Amino acid sequence: MEKTIKQEFEKRFGGEGTMYASAGRINLIGEHTDYNGGFVFPGAIDKVIMADIRPNGTDKVRVFSVDINENVEFGLEEKDAPAQQWARYIFGVCREIIKRGGNVKGFDAVFAGNVPLGAGLSSSAALESCFAFALNDLFNGNSIDKFELAKIGQSTEHNYCGVNCGIMDQFASVFGKKGHLMRLDCRSMEYEYFPFNITGHKLVLVDSQVKHALVDSPYNKRRQSCERVAAKLGIDTLRDATKEALDAIKGEISAEDYFRAKFVIEEKQRVLDVCDALQRGDCETVGRKMYETHEGLSKDYEVSCEELDYLNDIARRCGVTGSRIMGGGFGGCTINLVKNDIYDQFISTVTHEFNGRYGHEPKIYPVIISDGAHKC
Ligand code: ADP
Ligand code: MG
Repeated sequence: MEKTIKQEFEKRFGGEGTMYASAGRINLIGEHTDYNGGFVFPGAIDKVIMADIRPNGTDKVRVFSVDINENVEFGLEEKDAPAQQWARYIFGVCREIIKRGGNVKGFDAVFAGNVPLGAGLSSSAALESCFAFALNDLFNGNSIDKFELAKIGQSTEHNYCGVNCGIMDQFASVFGKKGHLMRLDCRSMEYEYFPFNITGHKLVLVDSQVKHALVDSPYNKRRQSCERVAAKLGIDTLRDATKEALDAIKGEISAEDYFRAKFVIEEKQRVLDVCDALQRGDCETVGRKMYETHEGLSKDYEVSCEELDYLNDIARRCGVTGSRIMGGGFGGCTINLVKNDIYDQFISTVTHEFNGRYGHEPKIYPVIISDGAHKC
């Protein structure tokens, strides 16, 4: 990929720029906890966006996307927003830096990536954080702190791409560190690195490649349930709720709200338990908690679907250590912690059986926890 990018840069602009990269991410555990003030536990992966970039001394940005095979040119004022979706991520990053008082001038860039698009690995965050990191280095003497870089990516999604996302994806992509996961406290924004000790195991994503579009917005409905229960308990978010307090108001809330809140309270604890287990190198406990999360997402939070439950069943039958839905639900991937000695068997079984039932093979993405945004 690096070679292709360099060749394209030479061909289009002459000479070479500086190479930057940033990564997609996984989240080991901690689902639907972000908007409840709880914890998430992501890490950057060995699937990246790479860009060769060089200031061009004008007020125009010229970018070539290798994967889309398209060239776009835009100015740096609000009115200059490009029409192409992929270019809006880059334009948005420029604008968000400028809006914060930072400096961005014209530049030439060529970029490519291997983060699967729309699979839940956050290719968009990789793209934003690659450019945010680069423009901070090239035009701002690295004066913008890393949290602000993550927020620049998040605001890009909100203001230029129509995606109302949280901070986890950009955080993971900017702060990612080889061999480490990061526990982020979504209330205080404090974070801690944990070595990802899974000796004898691999991490692999199985992508169902289905996405169920639902009529009413299930995400907003889940949020509203959580907010109603928190209000009833007289607290800001479910972060401060306990199972005992929830049980005490069980008769005053709907059964649906009860189970939604129960999941969130349990999930918050599971993230902490998984961190402890990882520190002991106890993969069995990590895996058990992943299955519990799947169960909770499926039965209590009701954001699973037939295909994801089927993938989870196959994992269980194959003796996979841990498996669960990753992401918001209703399709996408499961994340699986698999012992090395059953890995090949699991991959062939899950591919074959899923294909047998749904008529298409799932996509398989083995991942290694790697560095986030950096200069190459
Ligand atoms: P994801 O879950 O992967 O973040 P999104 O829909 O949020 O999915 O972001 C995908 C979008 O990001 C693509 O439609 C494209 O505009 C942009 N993108 C991601 N990777 C690339 C790439 N390698 N080249 C060009 N654009 C990309
Ligand atoms: Mg995205």
